[in-house]
Amino acid sequence: MANDDRKPTTTDAGIGVASDELSLSVGPDGPIVLHDHYLIEQMAQFNRERIPERQPHAKGSGAFGHFETTEDVSQYTKAALFQPGVKTEMLARFSTVAGERGSPDTWRDPRGFSLKFYTSEGNYDMVGNNTPIFFIRDPMKFQHFIRSQKRRADNNLRDHDMQWDFWTLSPESAHQVTWLMGDRGIPKTWRHMNGYSSHTYMWVNAQGERSWVKYHFKTDQGIECLTEEEGVELTHGDGDYHTRDLFESIQNGNFPSWTLYVQIMPFEDAKTYRLNPFDLTKVWPHEDYPLIKVGKMTLNRNATDNHAEIEQAAFEPNNLVPGIGLSPDKMLLARGFSYADAHRARLGANYKQIPVNSPVAPVHSYSKDGAMRINKVSDPVYAPNTKGGPAADPERYPEDTTWYADGEMVRAAYTQRPDDDDVTQANKLINEVMDDAARERLVSNAAGHIKQGVKEPVLSRVFEYWKNIDKDIGARIEQAVKEG
Ligand code: NDP
Repeated sequence: MANDDRKPTTTDAGIGVASDELSLSVGPDGPIVLHDHYLIEQMAQFNRERIPERQPHAKGSGAFGHFETTEDVSQYTKAALFQPGVKTEMLARFSTVAGERGSPDTWRDPRGFSLKFYTSEGNYDMVGNNTPIFFIRDPMKFQHFIRSQKRRADNNLRDHDMQWDFWTLSPESAHQVTWLMGDRGIPKTWRHMNGYSSHTYMWVNAQGERSWVKYHFKTDQGIECLTEEEGVELTHGDGDYHTRDLFESIQNGNFPSWTLYVQIMPFEDAKTYRLNPFDLTKVWPHEDYPLIKVGKMTLNRNATDNHAEIEQAAFEPNNLVPGIGLSPDKMLLARGFSYADAHRARLGANYKQIPVNSPVAPVHSYSKDGAMRINKVSDPVYAPNTKGGPAADPERYPEDTTWYADGEMVRAAYTQRPDDDDVTQANKLINEVMDDAARERLVSNAAGHIKQGVKEPVLSRVFEYWKNIDKDIGARIEQAVKEG
């Protein structure tokens, strides 16, 4: 039936089609014909709808909003987005780590907390987590760590024996594993969790003075978590619980927000601080480096096409703007390569031209050609040139986020400092941050996890691992596992 209010269906080339429902055939009962271009286009496009999922952080969603700098931190950074009163459009994506795209939102796992700020000086990305620390500190182990969390080769199942095998052979994981088995291992919703840069970055002010910085996005909704039982129930009842919660909250005008605080370490302190400030398995204790307020991030707009705007969103730690730099954290330096490499593999060489990844700042780059290029290039296509092409401006954009490094090339752990052991901060979390009830839940969560398939010889190592962190908690976990 003709309907004058509706737009006519067209092919992707904008050509009107005769039917949404009937393919072209030789008589009503005869074979369909290959030159039914619209049918072929529909089938072919459908076959190509899925793109490779992220490896890891495949399951997630996000929303758009803005960040407003409410305080004056210009003594630490000249970054345009962090100057007083500046409001910057942004995108956030939250995710689990180990699960595939269709996996439940409420598995016990760290959550990704990825941010893209469309600043006046180019895109600034922060690829953080809802935990201030991580399982490992050397990027050589990252791929192996993620494989241990994903699926076995033979039966394609996740395997707790494999997970604990890796963790117990990687004692630097103690802090993050303790955190994960605690209450915050399953957030109630993405709105009710904090985000942390985890890594240390560098800030540089207008005078060229450098500081080290860690970011803490504290939820204004308050921290709320799910118990193990609630999490498990939701994995069966509503696998998309966190995705739905964020979308519906924003749809209903209930906009979640986070207040950004930073910890600032003077540049020279890093050389002599009692623990390596670039070690991703450690926090900077608040008593040494208190939180300094910066501003507020608010999410207030849902995507209208989740694939185009969230699935194709490409966050990368090397998207840094003037005033912000990397640090000697080996994990961070490796992520600088691996994220952009993953995007090129998943989305193609021109992924930065996908609208969600495009900056609002003007682009004057010499990149050209490649599959799916959208932005036109113009001559001259090389630098240096005398033909009016872009020219680097070292006065305006000095290479000022650097640090001194020298030494023989080695494959070695970070130089040991007095407080660089693997268990002190995990022990502090258990004994000074958790209360009795939280410690009881930690024992129960860890024992429940271990009971699901951890076998000898890994099992004995698991008990040793926990006893190294805390003798009493280790004994209680062993007892709980052995009691069945
Ligand atoms: P503080 O007492 O100043 O900080 C403790 C922090 O622990 C709180 O501010 C809160 O961080 C966080 N926290 C509270 N409950 C839990 C939980 N169940 N699981 C994980 N984190 C929780 O002491 P310190 O700064 O000396 O840190 C002590 C320990 O607290 C650390 O070893 C670390 O395990 C943990 N922690 C420290 C953070 C830091 O940056 N210093 C950040 C987060 C945890 P928040 O306010 O960010 O929610």
